[in-house]
Amino acid sequence: MPTILYQDQFLSRDQGKVDMEDRGYQFGDGIYEAIRVYGGRLFLLDLHMKRLERSARELRLQLPYSIDHLTDNLRTLIAKNQIDDGLVYFQITRGAAPRQHLFPEETESVLTGSAISLSREDALRPDGIKASLIDDIRWLRCDIKTLNLLGNVLAKQKAHEQGSEEAILHRGDTVTEGSSCNVFIVKEGRLITHPADHFILNGITRLFVLDLAERLDIPVQERLFSTEELLSADEVFITSTGAEVKPVVQIGDQLIAGGRPGVIAGRLMDAFDKEVTRIRTAALS
Ligand code: PMP
Repeated sequence: MPTILYQDQFLSRDQGKVDMEDRGYQFGDGIYEAIRVYGGRLFLLDLHMKRLERSARELRLQLPYSIDHLTDNLRTLIAKNQIDDGLVYFQITRGAAPRQHLFPEETESVLTGSAISLSREDALRPDGIKASLIDDIRWLRCDIKTLNLLGNVLAKQKAHEQGSEEAILHRGDTVTEGSSCNVFIVKEGRLITHPADHFILNGITRLFVLDLAERLDIPVQERLFSTEELLSADEVFITSTGAEVKPVVQIGDQLIAGGRPGVIAGRLMDAFDKEVTRIRTAALS
């Protein structure tokens, strides 16, 4: 049985219970993070924790523990579950209180967390995937990593029913992001991705890929791009904590670049791989 984190305690998974009046359950009133683990180490930890603090601030939600304390607990959770390559998920809700919309006055936030194994072979798709273009019907604060994911859930389900692995979302003519990832296109050797504003989640993998692009001298434009530019792009790929860099080779009925992953995505995947190998080697020494 896996070990989970409940507040400050480590429990067997079947002991983890939440109150039926928890606001996360009733209103989706909470935030979360998912952090990749390579060689037992939390990858890009500081960026995830900064985003967590920002999400909490934007929702005026009190973090129940300091970041240092939370980090220690996440490391213990990884060790207790003997995770080598994996994923740590944790969420913090505004806590349990009699149901009314207003913030409760003296309620403690509730933290729950889990850790699973996820091998890179299972997570990566170097040959690319098919995606569907789906209307972005979400609220206007997609920059906050909240538990309210219904717009994302409906989009992903619709894409799945169309035989696609991911939904690429658009508002009118503008591509925003994926249902659980960020979207990049390549035009004439240049990377283009939606700017980090209220319409997208500023993915940690997005930030890491922008950093890799700079190191590889690949020019980048953070600007709006249209569905037409998407469909006629030289390359399309998505990024996320679980999937790293994943080429998109078909959108709806349309093949992208003849249905083969592109050169720039390949260079970024190689650079990503080197970084992971470096971290895994450091973890062993
Ligand atoms: N956008 C959305 C809507 C997401 O759910 C995610 C993954 N949680 C991302 C982008 C990618 O973010 P990250 O690279 O931090 O996983």
